[in-house]
Amino acid sequence: MTGNTSSEATAAVRLDAIKTRMAEAARNAGRAPEDVTLVAVSKTFDEAAIRPLIAAGQRVFGENRVQESAHKWPALRAQHADIELHLIGPLQTNKVDDALALFDVIHTLDRDRLALALVRAREKGKALPRLLVQVNTGEEPQKAGLAPGEVDAFLARCRDEWQLEIEGLMCIPPADEEPALHFALLEKLARRNGLRGLSMGMSGDFEKAIAFGATHVRVGSALFGSRD
Ligand SMILES: *Cc1c(COP(=O)(O)O)cnc(C)c1O
Repeated sequence: MTGNTSSEATAAVRLDAIKTRMAEAARNAGRAPEDVTLVAVSKTFDEAAIRPLIAAGQRVFGENRVQESAHKWPALRAQHADIELHLIGPLQTNKVDDALALFDVIHTLDRDRLALALVRAREKGKALPRLLVQVNTGEEPQKAGLAPGEVDAFLARCRDEWQLEIEGLMCIPPADEEPALHFALLEKLARRNGLRGLSMGMSGDFEKAIAFGATHVRVGSALFGSRD
């Protein structure tokens, strides 16, 4: 055995606890547990911290920075071809090519310029990842995402002008507000646009998000420990 044994045990226990809570939240909401994907948010944690979770069976991971991911993930993915990597942080248009090389899913499409950069990449022959649109449900000036009132028109442009297939919506509720209000709003915006995907819920509120229809919960600290 290697010196990793105890951190692997910790990771396996944490992962199991989160999955159990997710499944219970899904069943309580009359939903199938397999309809909710756990995105393990590994930002700031290094390969040594991530490996035990992979060993425990986790395959879907989220990162918020392109640069950090480019350093960490190619080696891990070379060993585990079935890993699915999600970008959950802002994407600058000058990093689109790097992001396309790394990520299977982007949760943070939030403006025309970025949509057009994706279209240009597609025209150059690149395969696009799965896409979710970020909504700034709390209309916080410091936060990325479309205002709720802009969402319908943006989704229409994605569909009709750019032929970009959008899988769902994503939000990060304001830290000091009841998240349920934001989850309900995001669900309503998705439903009236015929979208099924809902990326919402983090370590502190993922059960509530599942009750409101989350298909992807993004859990970091509850799995990896605090980021300080
Ligand atoms: C860091 C982060 C998370 C995970 O937050 P935790 O509270 O650690 O679970 C989820 N979503 C986004 C967009 C993040 O940046």
